Amino acid sequence: MRPAILNPLFAPVTALKGVGPRLGKLFEKICGPSVVDLLWHLPVDVIDRSHRPTVATAETGRIATLTVKVDSHLKPRHPRLPWKVRCSDGTGALFLVYFHVKGDWLEKSLPLGAMRIVSGKIERFNKETQITHPDYVLDPEGLDTLKLIEPVYRLTAGLTLRTVHKAVEGSLARAPELPEWQDAELMRRRAWPSWHRAISSAHAPGKPEDLLPNTPARERLACDELLANQLTIALLRASARRVPGRAIKPAGDLVTRMLRGLPFTLTGAQLRAVSEISADMAAPGRMLRLLQGDVGSGKTVVAFLAMCNAVEAGGQAALMAPTELLARQHFTTLANLARGSAVAIALLTGREKGKAREEILARLASGSIDIAVGTHALFQEGVEFKDLMLAVIDEQHRFGVEQRMALSQKGKGVDILAMTATPIPRTLEMTAYGDLDVSRLDEKPTGRAGTKTSIVPVERLSEVIAAIKRALAKQAKVYWICPLIEESEDSDLAAAEERYAALRKIFGNRAGLIHGRMKGAERDKAMAGFASGAIDLLVATTVIEVGVDVPDATIMVVEHAERFGLAQLHQLRGRIGRGDQPSNCLLLYTAPLGDTAKARLAILRESDDGFRIAEEDLRLRGAGEVLGTRQSGFEQFRLADLAAHAELIPLARDAARLALERDPALETPQGQALRTLLYLFQRDEAVRYLRSA
Ligand code: ADP
Ligand code: MG
Repeated sequence: MRPAILNPLFAPVTALKGVGPRLGKLFEKICGPSVVDLLWHLPVDVIDRSHRPTVATAETGRIATLTVKVDSHLKPRHPRLPWKVRCSDGTGALFLVYFHVKGDWLEKSLPLGAMRIVSGKIERFNKETQITHPDYVLDPEGLDTLKLIEPVYRLTAGLTLRTVHKAVEGSLARAPELPEWQDAELMRRRAWPSWHRAISSAHAPGKPEDLLPNTPARERLACDELLANQLTIALLRASARRVPGRAIKPAGDLVTRMLRGLPFTLTGAQLRAVSEISADMAAPGRMLRLLQGDVGSGKTVVAFLAMCNAVEAGGQAALMAPTELLARQHFTTLANLARGSAVAIALLTGREKGKAREEILARLASGSIDIAVGTHALFQEGVEFKDLMLAVIDEQHRFGVEQRMALSQKGKGVDILAMTATPIPRTLEMTAYGDLDVSRLDEKPTGRAGTKTSIVPVERLSEVIAAIKRALAKQAKVYWICPLIEESEDSDLAAAEERYAALRKIFGNRAGLIHGRMKGAERDKAMAGFASGAIDLLVATTVIEVGVDVPDATIMVVEHAERFGLAQLHQLRGRIGRGDQPSNCLLLYTAPLGDTAKARLAILRESDDGFRIAEEDLRLRGAGEVLGTRQSGFEQFRLADLAAHAELIPLARDAARLALERDPALETPQGQALRTLLYLFQRDEAVRYLRSA
């Protein structure tokens, strides 16, 4: 149960004074439904009202706060003209300008002869000094309430800064003093304030520098969030490992024979990964390992060898892929690798229905299928394995932890091998995959001619098409990737269909189309056509992003490359440059391109190293963007900026480990404080792992 001390923060925002259902919706949109979400909504800028000139010395264009006396009201002669209020301070006249004034509120708030503090941007118009719609008009006594440095928050249509200020003040008033969960020594060394002081001062910047991520207040809050994350990971890890595993030590030589039968020799990195995996499987504990490798680094064969381990030990293995297309392709690849052996492989996706499905299910249950390849259909109810020993999960970040768990529950102490081609920077690894051991394929198979990347303005489209004509005449295969459109999958599709229609006019039947809305069979047909050469120009939405393998495709055109994430472009580009022919990737962009966008595309031109690309992208754009929000299971942080606070991540990890070592059930006073921290960051599930300890 959440400690009662936190309850005021977990009330809905509408519990705040002045926030009704309408504002509640808007707040939910910008930060979230609860009071605590407002606390995490930190200012992004400041307005400096500390310039306190006289009318004569006020600088044009600057925000100023002045003390003036109201002289007269100049009412508009026409409703479209503004209402002007003439004020002065002995050095000159200041006109307050108001449009669309209704009723008499202006005369009431600015009565003749009254002294007023006004704050707003100074303008000069026809030699007159004026402020249009001042931000503040206050009694002289009201000066105390005016923040001379005013925090600025991210807003949305219908929400004013003033409303956010009020609501944030309301939530700060509800913020309790909380027991300290950070290590005392760390607090002292870093001169960090208490949580309460940190959150208060983060919302009360005194100067623009106070918004920087390295202020003690912001650092502390970031570290709180990271600590909650690392504690969760540590607890998850401990609980997953409490499930006893099995020692899988095949006696025979299946793996050796399979290795010998491969049409290539494994890279050093692949061999290392295979031996790390075999060692994990042979150990009595449960394997929870991530195989991380750039596109084309050869993860599939490593997974295959791991699965052979399980098969040889008398068990079964399953490989789960995020899309049907990918599952089918893996099935074909594995069937090829296993050809000539006694290893039986089957495919199970949503498309296997009726009798065929029944038969597969029966054979899985009886154990006559050794390896099952499929989509999430694999872990659904009714699917039973005779003895599932190993579950391989491809593109693991596309699945939630629950799905990972569901598959592993199809057996007892199932070893898990997760795979990902998303080359996340090392700094992020700890926050994203902290519960897994990692094997990295940091070496590409040799014998690949590689890819040259060019950045081309869309104005040169006709040249690009001419070049493709020439390439097609020489039997090249071309991917044409259509632009990513933010709004919806429908518009992605519309763009692809439009481009397809245009290219068909030029290339006729040689052009094909593939997209995510196609029926499975149609999609297979398009892919098969492209693989066999019946089609040699494949127009595609990003469905081909993951895993598609047509090694003799050598050209890729990406439209509106500037709209894609770097990691995604890198993934896409990984579809070419797989064979022995040199490949070309043309990134088309639409001008004008900002400096950051240019720098980003240039990284792709210069590097083919997914890790480097990810690091650079992180530096340029920040973590949220790099990991992507689309379909990603990666965690989003609210207070920690994974680029700016990278150094805090290992700190938080060590603190989490140390705390659990000293107090595994979190029972001491500091342990209790850590529980409060977990609830504060809505890690209720982590506390449950603790309880089942
Ligand atoms: P990914 O890591 O992107 O999943 P794949 O497993 O699909 O990569 O492998 C990409 C291609 O490289 C496949 O065609 C595979 O047969 C080939 N391949 C894998 N390992 C090697 C190797 N050691 N030498 C040569 N080719 C390899
Ligand atoms: Mg793959």
